Amino acid sequence: MAERIPETLHKKLSERLHFYEDLGVRLFYKDRGARHALSSSSEEVALPKPIGNPESPKATQPAPRALPAQVAETSARVTYKPDPLPVPAAPSLFEAFGKVPDDTLLKVRSDLGECTRCKLHTTRNKIVFGDGNPKAELVFVGEGPGHDEDMQGLPFVGRAGKLLTQMIEAMGLERKDVYICNVVKCRPPENRAPEKDEVEQCSPFLLRQIDAIAPKVIVCLGSTAAQTVLETNRGISQFRGQWLEFRGRKLMATYHPAYLLRNPSAKSEVWRDLQKVMAVLGLEMKKGKSADAGKSS
Ligand code: URA
Repeated sequence: MAERIPETLHKKLSERLHFYEDLGVRLFYKDRGARHALSSSSEEVALPKPIGNPESPKATQPAPRALPAQVAETSARVTYKPDPLPVPAAPSLFEAFGKVPDDTLLKVRSDLGECTRCKLHTTRNKIVFGDGNPKAELVFVGEGPGHDEDMQGLPFVGRAGKLLTQMIEAMGLERKDVYICNVVKCRPPENRAPEKDEVEQCSPFLLRQIDAIAPKVIVCLGSTAAQTVLETNRGISQFRGQWLEFRGRKLMATYHPAYLLRNPSAKSEVWRDLQKVMAVLGLEMKKGKSADAGKSS
């Protein structure tokens, strides 16, 4: 006779299985075919030079691609100039901002202070600096805080955040294993996209956060994060899922969880991207049970 499991555990397992199912993962079911073809082609963009093979021999994804080059001006979704990833024109925003020796997240936070550098400070409730493991191998970068984040002072705690948490757990990690932050640290009113001046004021702090953490992999969630960090106006679908390089680190852009809430069918694409990240980090999806934290800090 089947053993009964507690209701809360049952609910958790059922949510987890539904999430995997949404992602097109059918490992747990003998009787179900994949709803999404995991091998469907992703859009690709010709980028100049590949950045070497994924470190895990288990990786079955296409070879990593190329270096996005820096471009002259930053102008997020915002007002990006037509440019593309390849050709360097002048020192980029991020190049111009050199490394701060022996930087730490605490120093970055302290330098940010009770920031009044841009107009977002006038409407924010709390600064949302970032959260997670200061030595994370994986950093997620989002766009900017929404209402829930502004109230709590923590990134990705609203609906999109819950989906991000599920994605992280599906990778065999927990939120505390990774670091999560945003391009801008204060909520743009009405959840509008951050404006150019706001991005320019705030992104040096993002850069310092990334440098201080020194992750193996950066995942940009959505076009604002990807376009800001890569300093491009290219649509994210042109380079989503490809390995790019950012200041010597592997970077992948994928769709924002908020986009997935509106377009659940894109979850399988994001899952494919995250599987590439898992391969590089040496993470394996735990079969048939809830995922354990799969990395050391
Ligand atoms: N969306 C983001 O981009 N960041 C958050 O912190 C929450 C929602």
